[in-house]
Amino acid sequence: MAGPVIDVAARGLPEARWESWRRRCAPLRLPDWRELIVMAAHPDDEVLGAGGLIASARAAGIAVTIVTATDGEGSHPDSPTHSPSRLAALRIDEARSAASELNADPPVRLGLPDGGLAAHEDRLAAELRDLIGDIRRPGVVCAATWRYDGHPDHEAVGRAAAAACAATGTDLLHYPVWMWQWATPDHPLLRDCVPARLTLTPAAHAAKCRALECFRSQFLPLSDHPADAPIVPPHVLRRFTGPTETYLR
Ligand SMILES: [Zn+2]
Repeated sequence: MAGPVIDVAARGLPEARWESWRRRCAPLRLPDWRELIVMAAHPDDEVLGAGGLIASARAAGIAVTIVTATDGEGSHPDSPTHSPSRLAALRIDEARSAASELNADPPVRLGLPDGGLAAHEDRLAAELRDLIGDIRRPGVVCAATWRYDGHPDHEAVGRAAAAACAATGTDLLHYPVWMWQWATPDHPLLRDCVPARLTLTPAAHAAKCRALECFRSQFLPLSDHPADAPIVPPHVLRRFTGPTETYLR
């Protein structure tokens, strides 16, 4: 099947239709969880897709490790104001601040190339296996970007996480980021998934919203130049600011 095409300017399926689909998803609960490992392709994926889960886990006393595969240096390749190294430095700081808002430690950075993760899947899977540790360790859950999300880096992380979790008998939740922009609930790629809905407490929701505000380099223009436009414009960001999150198994 050809991969989906992400059009950031598109309005996508109206939120009300996604919301009626989400209401039919089974609730996600965190009973017996001891440790949560959240894998992100770029700094901000972890908060867009799983910020509420991270805050909820921390509030429940669950250890959380956030892993960012890249430093996100490729978000504005034609920027006349921000070099890749300046962008990386900004995004590392943003992700640290966001983790702090979620009461989590700063992300573990792998420093792999933004835009090139498909060539590093084995390394990603090996890093995750190391973090998981012993096979079938009770209470360990992994969350990762969805293997069919539509962005090559997100998909590489999703495939690597699936391999590491299959090898270690670890429960894996995929979180969609770009899916909302191109999919519909009856899309063939979604039909084989079992979705689950996490309803955030007011405190977890507020922490997620504060964490999202840290990613100014992605959600606000870097300058007036067209190449410095926001990567996640307001109509896309709104899909992530509601009181629920969706996970796919
Ligand atoms: Zn991303």
